[in-house]
Amino acid sequence: MSATLPDIACGRLSLAEYAKNFSDAHPPLTPVQARLEADRCYYCFDAPCTVACPTGIDIPTFIARIAQDNLRGAARTILEENILGGMCARVCPTEVLCEEACVRNTAEEKPVEIGLLQRFATDAYFAKPGAPMFTRALASGRTVAVVGGGPAGLACAHRLAMLGHAVVLFDAKPKLGGLNEYGIATYKTTGGFAQKEVDWLLSIGGIEVRSKQQLGHDIHLDTLVKDFDAVFLGLGLAGVNGIGAAEPAASGAPPLRAAVDFIAELRQANPAQVAVGRKVVVIGGGMTAVDAAVQSRLLGAEDVTIVYRRGPEGMSASGHEQDWAQTNGVKIKHWAAPKEVVAVGGHVKGMRFARTRLEGGKLVETDGHFTLDADVVLKAVGQTFVAEPVGAAAHGTEPIRLALDRGALATDADGQTSHPKIWAGGDCRAGGRDLTVEAVEHGKVAAIAIDRRLRA
Ligand SMILES: Cc1cc2nc3c(=O)[nH]c(=O)nc-3n(C[C@H](O)[C@H](O)[C@H](O)COP(=O)(O)OP(=O)(O)OC[C@H]3O[C@@H](n4cnc5c(N)ncnc54)[C@H](O)[C@@H]3O)c2cc1C
Ligand code: SF4
Repeated sequence: MSATLPDIACGRLSLAEYAKNFSDAHPPLTPVQARLEADRCYYCFDAPCTVACPTGIDIPTFIARIAQDNLRGAARTILEENILGGMCARVCPTEVLCEEACVRNTAEEKPVEIGLLQRFATDAYFAKPGAPMFTRALASGRTVAVVGGGPAGLACAHRLAMLGHAVVLFDAKPKLGGLNEYGIATYKTTGGFAQKEVDWLLSIGGIEVRSKQQLGHDIHLDTLVKDFDAVFLGLGLAGVNGIGAAEPAASGAPPLRAAVDFIAELRQANPAQVAVGRKVVVIGGGMTAVDAAVQSRLLGAEDVTIVYRRGPEGMSASGHEQDWAQTNGVKIKHWAAPKEVVAVGGHVKGMRFARTRLEGGKLVETDGHFTLDADVVLKAVGQTFVAEPVGAAAHGTEPIRLALDRGALATDADGQTSHPKIWAGGDCRAGGRDLTVEAVEHGKVAAIAIDRRLRA
């Protein structure tokens, strides 16, 4: 172990290096590149890429429109199924969705670059939106409360507004967007894109935004159910799992930081003002672990290691994301479980791990141990749904108890919860894959179901 004092500092790099490191990770296609890429599409009948898209975008049609230089038409095909198609073009793990299904993989081992084409079409539209693309139906006279302004809540609110309902959109945070604004890695969504997309989405009208309104504190579900014709919950996952090993409280060192908090700080700050350790260890195996590790490197950390309990195939970060981490100089150590934070004089100095292996299909720790030096240890071992705000009632009234399934909100396929007036979607709904695109689909499907119910 190093005997030096902790070295957690901001301003490790020059301004030019920060600008380069936090620029667009996957620069957009030029018009010529987009045309050439669009020409690679076979315009398949029953296109497998469309089947693999959680929002069911008609991919061959939007690609054909790019080939015909009808970019507004291409963007419309995308946005009518996925109102956050601009953000999804940047953040979707296409390598395990549409592009994995593309038939070009068989012939050439290289799919059509659907994500980049989607970005090309939506960027062109947002650069010059022109006349409104979506308009509202005649007012229905019904009002719906949407709680949570992340991808699920935004998609639900937009579709309800299109269908003629009046929407009040509540969010605990000052800005809308959910993890699009506070979670997605900076290099995936540059130039304030998340807020520009939110502003465009709200321009349809009929959506009243009430920010800094926390369910369970400023507003209560039982009151919303009385005051509105229906309620949609898109609350995301507010809790963070512990690492399953002692954290350093006894030594006087602060508790381990959640990777999501580090990422949220970075999304709202100038990278030059965000402190990072010289040696960083990230515990976890998902997208959050990869984003926290890569961004630590890009902030100037010298040595960054992701440590995961199982092998590479067990990680929820895709192979593409694991490669991305390694390309950025992040080391990944597999088959190791956190045992103990090493802290000296109130400062984190490292993390001790036990080696693991599979025995009869069960993960077990072996006798082998090792310690990694670190001034910062980030935990990224998953987030959880926090049910308390849902169950809290206004003073003196009966709380609403929604059924849970594996710790998240239980719903039917349309997102209806155990309460007849309440729907839910996105990460807070049980059984999802915790992807932006899936949250958008949940919001859209729930809005259509709510509309059907309100018109019955
Ligand atoms: C670090 C990180 C990186 C990720 N990267 C990707 C990626 O690259 N690609 C991808 O597809 N997915 C990614 N994901 C997953 C993706 O961001 C989520 O699946 C998606 O944002 C879920 O949308 P949501 O609307 O359900 O929840 P959220 O985006 O979490 O939004 C929930 C909203 O509800 C509000 N809220 C919460 N509690 C309350 C309350 N009590 N009262 C009022 N409002 C409340 C929050 O403020 C927030 O605005 C990432 C997740 C994380 C954590
Ligand atoms: S599967 Fe590939 S080639 Fe076929 S329509 Fe989709 S993008 Fe085009």
